[in-house]
Amino acid sequence: MVKTVDQDQSTQSQSGDLRQGSRPRVVVVGAGFAGLAAIEVLRDAPVELVVVDRHNFTTFQPLLYQVATAGLNAGDVAYPLRTVLRRARHAHFIQGTLAEVDAKRRFIGLEDGRIVDYDYLILGIGASASFFGIPGAEERSHTIYTLDAAVDVRNHIFQRFEYAASHGVHDGVLTFVVVGGGATGVELAGAIAELAHRALYTDFTMLGPDDVKVVLIEQRGRLLEAFHEDLSEYARRELRARGVTVLLNETVESVEEGLIVLKSGREIRNGLVLWAAGIAVPPVVSKLGLPTGRGGRIMVGSDLRVVGSDRIFAVGDVALSTNRDGAPLPQLAQPALQGGEHAARQILALLAGSETEPFRYRDKGIMATIGRRAAVAELAGGVRLHGTPAWVSWLLLHVAFLLGSRNKASVLMNWSWHYLSWGKGPRVILGG
Ligand SMILES: Cc1cc2nc3c(=O)[nH]c(=O)nc-3n(C[C@H](O)[C@H](O)[C@H](O)COP(=O)(O)OP(=O)(O)OC[C@H]3O[C@@H](n4cnc5c(N)ncnc54)[C@H](O)[C@@H]3O)c2cc1C
Repeated sequence: MVKTVDQDQSTQSQSGDLRQGSRPRVVVVGAGFAGLAAIEVLRDAPVELVVVDRHNFTTFQPLLYQVATAGLNAGDVAYPLRTVLRRARHAHFIQGTLAEVDAKRRFIGLEDGRIVDYDYLILGIGASASFFGIPGAEERSHTIYTLDAAVDVRNHIFQRFEYAASHGVHDGVLTFVVVGGGATGVELAGAIAELAHRALYTDFTMLGPDDVKVVLIEQRGRLLEAFHEDLSEYARRELRARGVTVLLNETVESVEEGLIVLKSGREIRNGLVLWAAGIAVPPVVSKLGLPTGRGGRIMVGSDLRVVGSDRIFAVGDVALSTNRDGAPLPQLAQPALQGGEHAARQILALLAGSETEPFRYRDKGIMATIGRRAAVAELAGGVRLHGTPAWVSWLLLHVAFLLGSRNKASVLMNWSWHYLSWGKGPRVILGG
């Protein structure tokens, strides 16, 4: 017998359908960029909207590296999902983790055994890190895909400093290794270097400028491969100016306790390895019985419906959607936002008895920041920016996309403070 989750989750009925009146039920699983864009379309539509996420908040991933390096507070990049749905009369939120999808009987199962029926389902559960099977990488390195993980990295960074202050700098305790020279790796390396080489010296006066090392490892011949070569070179120069050692054409062979071994034979003793090298889909995807393609991503047709499923859409990082040339779309915020909105609109079209339309991705460009007044941007139409103009554009764009006035104000205030005080942010070790 199917258990159905009721509207306010206070009870579970053993059977039956709790749909509100005759409204068809649309379930959105995952409220990141893609899920939120779908919610925006469906919130006031003539459907019963059910939003499921393992967290009770949405996370603004592009700024997680700033939480990890004490530039921002955790709360600045998170927004409660119940607040997102506050004014929607026919929408409700369920905190739960997706465990199964039954496409035939049209329900999803959550890890704790609850079942949620759907008429249409949108899956937008994002991505996780890929460690490429490299020995020790998963066990001994840190990623920043979630808020918890970002706070954990911050704790580790400051614990290393505290350790060095008490025990001295030995065995590479203050060597921070970032693996992966894409946007996340470049942003992390730049932010740790600025934090370490500028902000922390006022607190840790016993440490000298050469005690902290930041190493960025990239297996290709340049950083930021998605950008024009000139911008890659600019990023490398700016990182070096901040004291980051950039190692190109180097591949990690294994990650051991306090030691990272490269295929070239080079070994780096370190205090912390941060992994920003590859993207995978969450492990649950392989258990959903849905078709998957490159990178384990869920295969979708041109309208973003999962191949072989009339009523399930997959959007954002977890979906293998393509551009007009058939190339997979990058796992970035813009494809997720546009895909989520498109899927929601197709559901409304289907409910109105119309045909679906193919998804057409509009490339608005890419950006990455390296540090104070240093960023790169490649905008639609081939416009390339670097330095202060790119940095200011990056700042404004990120504030614009944050949810909630409190978060926007808080981020602006924290950044201004950070800028004027040379990085004196929330440098606290939590837990422990
Ligand atoms: C550190 C970092 C920096 C980034 N920087 C940039 C950038 O500068 N620019 C850019 O364009 N992109 C950036 N990205 C990529 C961008 O954040 C993603 O492409 C985007 O978030 C994808 O949106 P999504 O909705 O597919 O997934 P997400 O935003 O990841 O949302 C997935 C949601 O699903 C939920 N979820 C996951 N598993 C389950 C489950 N089993 N059950 C229930 N809920 C679940 C999660 O809690 C989350 O709320 C960055 C990513 C990271 C990690």
